[in-house]
Amino acid sequence: MSEPRSVLVTGANQGIGASIAARFVAQGDKVSTIYHSGQEPAEGILGIVGDVTNTETVEAAFKTIEAQNGPVEVLVANAGITRDQLLLRMTDAEFDSVLAVNLGGAFKCVRRASKSMIRLRRGRIVLIGSVVALYGTAGQVNYSSSKAALVGMARSITRELGARGITANVVAPGFIDTAMTAALPQERQDAYKAAIPAGRFAQPDEVAGVVQFLAGPDAGYISGAVIPVDGGLGMGH
Ligand code: NDP
Repeated sequence: MSEPRSVLVTGANQGIGASIAARFVAQGDKVSTIYHSGQEPAEGILGIVGDVTNTETVEAAFKTIEAQNGPVEVLVANAGITRDQLLLRMTDAEFDSVLAVNLGGAFKCVRRASKSMIRLRRGRIVLIGSVVALYGTAGQVNYSSSKAALVGMARSITRELGARGITANVVAPGFIDTAMTAALPQERQDAYKAAIPAGRFAQPDEVAGVVQFLAGPDAGYISGAVIPVDGGLGMGH
C-alpha cells in the first residue's frame, strides 16, 4: 500500500462527498472535510464546520488540517448547492449564492491547497461539476453556469501548474441518488430517467470510484479533462 496522503473532500458529511471520503478512508488516507452545518461526517474523517465561501474559515480549516493530517495532497472540491428557479424569476441572491459556493468555494479551496502542492511538487485536484454544465437544464441557469465555469478553472490550473506535478480535472456526475435528487418532484425524476441511456440514477459510490482513480497513481497524465459519470446522458460532454 502507498503512503497515506492528506485528502480534503469538501462537503463530505453526506451524499456524494461522503462516498468519496469513504473510498479514501478505506485505502488508508488521512481524510478531512469542511462542511457547512449539517450532520457530522463518518468516523475516521476530520470534520471542520466552515463555509467554503469564506476565505478566513477556509484558511483556519486548512491550518487545522495541516496540523493534524499534513499538507493537503488531494483536494476534492465537492461542496455544492442548488437554488433552482426559472430565469425570469431568479433573484440576484439565488444566482449569487450558487456561484459563491459552487465556483467561489472551489476557487478558495484550490487556491489555498495549491500553496502546499506547489511546495510538494505534486497534487491532485478534482472538481465536482455536473452533466448540466454543458447539457443545460431549465431552472438551473445559476447552477449550470457555476458548474460550466469549473471546466475553465480545471483547464487554467492545468496550464498554470501542470509542470509542477499537479493535475486538475472535473468529474461531471449525471443524476445521483442523493438528497439533492430526492428533492426533485417524482415526475421530473421519471422524465430524467427516461432520458438517461442507462435508464437509472447512479449510486454515489459510482462517482467516488472515478474520483479515486483520478487521485491515484494511474491517472498522473490526465489533466484538464472532464470525466462524465452520467449513464450516457451527456454523451461525453
Ligand atoms: P448534498 O446536498 O447531499 O451535499 C452537499 C454538501 O455540500 C454537504 O456536505 C453540505 O454541507 C456542503 N456544503 C454546502 N454549502 C457549503 C458551504 N457553503 N460550505 C461548506 N460546505 C457546504 O449534495 P450531493 O452529494 O448531491 O452533491 C455533491 C456535489 O455533487 C455537489 O457539488 C453537486 O452539485 C454535485 N452533483 C450532484 C448531483 C446529484 O445528482 N446529486 C449531480 C451532479 C453533480 P452541509 O450538509 O453541512 O450543509
